Formats: sequence, C-alpha cells, structure tokens
Amino acid sequence: MLAGARPDGGVVADMLQRGSNLPRVGDYNEVLVMDLIRRHPGISRIELAERTGLSGQTVLNICRRLIGKNLINQIGQIRSGAGGRRLAYQVVPDGRYAIGVDIDPARTVLIAVNLAGEVIDRMPLRMDDHSDIDQIVAGIDRATRDHLSRGRRGTLSGLGVALPRAATARCDPADRQQTRAGWNADELRDSLRSRLRIPVRIGPDAVAAATAELWAGTIDSQNFAFIYLGASVGAGVALGGEILRGETDNLGRLDHLGGDPNGPVCACGGRGCIGAVAEPSHLVVRARDLGLLNGTDPDDPVSTAAGIVELGRLAEYGDSAAAEVLDYAARTYGRAAATLAGLLDLDTIVFGGPNWPPLEPAFRRIVPQTIEALVGAGAPEVTMRSTTLGGEVGSIGAASLLLAETAGPFVAHLVLPA
Ligand SMILES: [Zn+2]
Repeated sequence: MLAGARPDGGVVADMLQRGSNLPRVGDYNEVLVMDLIRRHPGISRIELAERTGLSGQTVLNICRRLIGKNLINQIGQIRSGAGGRRLAYQVVPDGRYAIGVDIDPARTVLIAVNLAGEVIDRMPLRMDDHSDIDQIVAGIDRATRDHLSRGRRGTLSGLGVALPRAATARCDPADRQQTRAGWNADELRDSLRSRLRIPVRIGPDAVAAATAELWAGTIDSQNFAFIYLGASVGAGVALGGEILRGETDNLGRLDHLGGDPNGPVCACGGRGCIGAVAEPSHLVVRARDLGLLNGTDPDDPVSTAAGIVELGRLAEYGDSAAAEVLDYAARTYGRAAATLAGLLDLDTIVFGGPNWPPLEPAFRRIVPQTIEALVGAGAPEVTMRSTTLGGEVGSIGAASLLLAETAGPFVAHLVLPA
C-alpha cells in the first residue's frame, strides 16, 4: 500500500496534492511500477499490486506497456499456490541509457549509464578551458560521437550535464558578468541540442549528485542535502523524496551561509561566509599562508584540486599545518551542514564531489560532533555520510537527470518500505 493512500484511489489524490508535474495519471502509475521493478529485480505482479495499491489487472496492463517499450522483461512464469501464475519482472538494463558529464575541471570523462545504474562506457573529455562554452560544447560533442561510433548500447535517452554552481545561474544580462564563466545553462543546452540533436538536461552539479543518490537507491533518507565539493561548492536538497530545483534552478547556493564565526567580513556584510572562506581556492590560500602548497595556483581549479589532494597527503603523514587547514574546512562545513539540517529538518548530510576524498578523514572526525553541538539537544539526529557513488557521482547524476524521467526516482517515497 501507499503511504497516505486512500482506498478510493489515493495514489491519484496524493499525486494531485503533491502537485506532480507528470501530465497523466497513467504515466504516473507507469513510472511508479517501473521504479519498483528497477529497485526490486524479480518482483512479482502480485507484489507490485500490493505495493502500489493498483489492481492486478492494471499492473498487468502497465507491465505489458513497459515490455512493449523494451523497458522491462518477464523473467518467470511459475505456478504458485492454487494454480495461480506468478509473473515476475526485471528491467532491461540497456532498454534505456543516458550519457552524463560533469563539467568540473578535475573530471575529464563522459560516461554512459544504463537503466540498471551500470556505467557502460567512458570517454575521455578533452578541453583546455572549462570556462569556455565553445570548448565545452566541442569537447562534449567529440566525446559523444566517440561513444556513438562504437555502436549504441540500447536506446539513448539523451545527454545530462552537471555544471558548477557559477555556470547555472540564470542571470539577466546586467548580472551576467557576475557568473564566473560568463555564460549560463540555457546557452549551453541550446548549443548542445542543436549540435547533437538529442535531448539535453542540465543541472547544477550538487543537484545532479543528489539526484544520483536517490535514483541509484544508495540512500535511505528522503530528506537530505548533498554538499558537493567541486570547483565550486553547493548543495542539492531532497525533501520528502523529491529533489528541489527552485525558481531559477539555482537552489542550494551556500555562498553566504555562515561557516566561520571568527572569519573575515564578507562582501555581503556577514562574517566567515562559506563562499568567502571555505571554497577549495580559499583552502589553498590558507595553506599557502602557512607555508604549504607554494606551487599551487588558487585561481586555477585543476591546480587547486591537486593542491587539496596534496593537503590530504601531508595531513596523513602528520603535517600539522595541513591538518589544521583540513580541520578548519571540516568545522566550517560542519557549521553550514548544521544550519541546513536545522532549517530544512533534514536527517542526513551527504558529502561528495571531486575535492571530497582528501577532505573525508577530517570531516568524518569533526563534522558529526559540530552538527550535534549546533543542532542542539532533543533535536532529531542528523547523520553525516560520504557518497557511495565515488568520484563519478556528478556524471552519474547528470545521466540520472534523464533516466529519472523514464524510471522515476521521485515516487519511491510514496511506497512504504517492504
Ligand atoms: Zn557573505
């Protein structure tokens, strides 16, 4: 049965109340059934009916449609009980797949992900300047054609692109120069669409990463923030099992969230804002002030990412100055995480992104206690964890922006746990 479902077709009522964007109830039910089959390979028609609240006949009709679209297949037809047939289903892994790319200077691959969440191809992504839209388009175009030249691996849903926060802002022309890259997501989407002639979805890297966690089913929380530590820093937020996108698709900016109460005064007038003290480039500057990373250029994201790796290595070998910088990062993000969790009533904070691995040991040590101290006694427990999708979480997330439309991650919250 469905959480909140009513005997009189509560799925529909619930969906309408939730303001789903799905155009038709039939589509909605199809996504719901598809999602259950994806998460539970071998699930039977009877179980599907039980868990969705739909009639056995409706489930059967939906499954026939999904088979017709080559999204699922039937894996068994065994006799059970009093002569009843037990039909069981699984997704066709290559029934759909999508290409995903994370435009972060520290990531240089474009990947293909299938419906089963498997990475089925990796293509090198070559571009010299990650802030130049023409180079990005040309690089993605080349890598996509590389991939297609090896033969399609099923039905291609399209291309998903995860962008650093600074490039996703939909600014008016007057504000345009304030985005670091100087172009915005709409321009990139239009260029890629006209070049590749496939569907293109674009999202902030943090939003893509949060989508990946939900879609891959690697997280059991429905109310969490994914703090993405890449060339820039941002958060993707899920509430009630749905990814929030915001009015301008720019939700989750952490720039002026307080991280260091003793930090310098920010341009906004606040003190120790994340966007002024704790982005990777700031950590490099901090390390340089302590005599470390002298060859690292904080204005170059690739150099900065290498510098953060070096900091992690130095700390591991007992360098106290390096450890101090990493501990500082952990305290500031711990404070920001606690603010987010308190504000949005979250139960989980996930960290990940290209710069995450070197930061992880210090964060594991410090963030949980910082959150606990700030969230306060009596408040629900907030768990900190690392992404289980590794360094490709942004790219997997980019692909899942498309696959989610086929296989729907955002309805799982309607279904009670088995
Ligand atoms: Zn500020």
